[in-house]
Amino acid sequence: MVLSAILLGFKYLFKRPYTRMYPYKEKAYTTSKTRARHILYLDRCIGCRACQFACPADAIKMYVLEGDYPKNRKKIFPGIDYSRCTYCGLCVEACPVNALVMTNYTMEHLITEDKSTTLYTPEMLSVPPKGEYIVTLSRDTWKKPPSPIPKKK
Ligand code: SF4
Ligand code: SF4
Repeated sequence: MVLSAILLGFKYLFKRPYTRMYPYKEKAYTTSKTRARHILYLDRCIGCRACQFACPADAIKMYVLEGDYPKNRKKIFPGIDYSRCTYCGLCVEACPVNALVMTNYTMEHLITEDKSTTLYTPEMLSVPPKGEYIVTLSRDTWKKPPSPIPKKK
């Protein structure tokens, strides 16, 4: 057992390192299931604060916006501090009107040396990412029943 571990380690001495030179040379690693940057649909949000209460990382603060929002009489909307977010998706699960979704976009909100840039206001969240992305988590995803366990024959 010890010998096989040593041989395995020896084999990797001659392989290239797995370290990704992100963001200097490579794009961020992302998959079709990655949970990353949120999108907030201002026209759907009812200002219920369920996302804020559900967040275990205290990453969500509510902001008052100017403008006409018939579904949101108090005009309060969530903003997310990505320096706190753990990408658990509980805010998406809690939202009763599917106003908050997560995408697999993992770029500028993660690359920074300035912590103040990780704070995304509702207006910023409402603008979809500029690069390629797909929605990977929404209220509908959470509601989907688990696949049935196949019966044994
Ligand atoms: S994904 Fe999780 S940690 Fe991030 S804002 Fe939503 S509830 Fe909070
Ligand atoms: S995003 Fe959803 S959960 Fe959060 S305040 Fe708006 S409606 Fe409520």
